[in-house]
Amino acid sequence: MQTVKKLVQEAKKKHSFDQQQKEEIIEVKSDSSKCESETGFTVDAFSYGDVPGCTGYILSHFHYDHYNGLTKHFTNPIYCSQITANLVLSRIKLKEEFVHPIPMNTPCLIDNIEITMLEANHCPGSVLILFRLPSGRVILHTGDFRADKSMEDYPEFKGVKFSQLYLDTTYCNPTYDFPPQKEVIDFAVDLVKKELARNPKTLIVCGSYTIGKERIFIAIAQALGCKICVYKDKQNVMSCLDDSDLFQKLSLDFNDSQLHVLQLGKLNPKGLGIHMSNLKTKYSNVIALEPTGWSYGKINSLQEIKPKYNRDGIKIFGIPYSEHSSYLEMKQFVQFIKPERIIPTVNNGNPKARKKMEDIFKSWFQELQQGQGQQAKVTVKQSSISTWFA
Ligand SMILES: [Zn+2]
Repeated sequence: MQTVKKLVQEAKKKHSFDQQQKEEIIEVKSDSSKCESETGFTVDAFSYGDVPGCTGYILSHFHYDHYNGLTKHFTNPIYCSQITANLVLSRIKLKEEFVHPIPMNTPCLIDNIEITMLEANHCPGSVLILFRLPSGRVILHTGDFRADKSMEDYPEFKGVKFSQLYLDTTYCNPTYDFPPQKEVIDFAVDLVKKELARNPKTLIVCGSYTIGKERIFIAIAQALGCKICVYKDKQNVMSCLDDSDLFQKLSLDFNDSQLHVLQLGKLNPKGLGIHMSNLKTKYSNVIALEPTGWSYGKINSLQEIKPKYNRDGIKIFGIPYSEHSSYLEMKQFVQFIKPERIIPTVNNGNPKARKKMEDIFKSWFQELQQGQGQQAKVTVKQSSISTWFA
């Protein structure tokens, strides 16, 4: 384990990396010889029970479809970011001894595999996972991610030859050409400002998931210089994000601010009506923003977005805010990574869909070859339990 110590020492020099984390990583040992997969690690594979040969379970982020199957009775080592670890401990009540937070941007040697977690631009705590194998092979698993040009500057990607890419293919279709997040956020802020200019006694409601899509209400709070009213459960979730500035902006008193965050299930005329009637401050109008990922295809620009409901002072807007890559962002990311092989992790269930994705990937590489004379080949494999092994 000399190498582990050396790596951790180097990591400690480069990053703030406390003693407890260091020991957690060094202490993890297991017999990876039992495992037939390349790394012995699985990513987001909690719904299969104990996976034979798996020595470490990685959780890419805290969304239900990724941690599904994880309960407080789970007794295998889990690796994830610090924020995801906070969420796992707080929401699932897993025993702390099994949860191993990995510091971001810090190569850690676990069971002879070097693992680095990088920002995935999805929800708080989400990571891309970079595996370096003793054979020299490099595998990247994107978890869920929204590709961004800035990822091309990740020093961890510099000069790397990627053998395999596990790719979040949620929107792997040219029809998904929704706008960049920043444009959508600016649009939401403008929409709210216009409503307030028209009628200052307007309540602003943002729909929310357990975790994810926070950037909309954070941007509105910044633009208006106001607090964010949330329920206790949301406050608990936000306390896991290790962001004290944001946490201080939250209030549990719904009379503290006209910006309220509610569960998505309450974003309907009845739910909003009940919420308004319970407030001491009386509002004459409400504008509710419901973040969606896929409603954009039916319109050509953000300016065309009309309320999906508009009656009796209640306006509900669908906001096409995606935490997954648009088609173009995904294509640019893949063309940058140039993996030898791509394994789609979403919408890969039937051969027809896989074939379609394979053709799309091929066209991206052909484009590259024509443009830059690059040599690249790509294959697509059916997803199964074995493909969750990196
Ligand atoms: Zn997700």
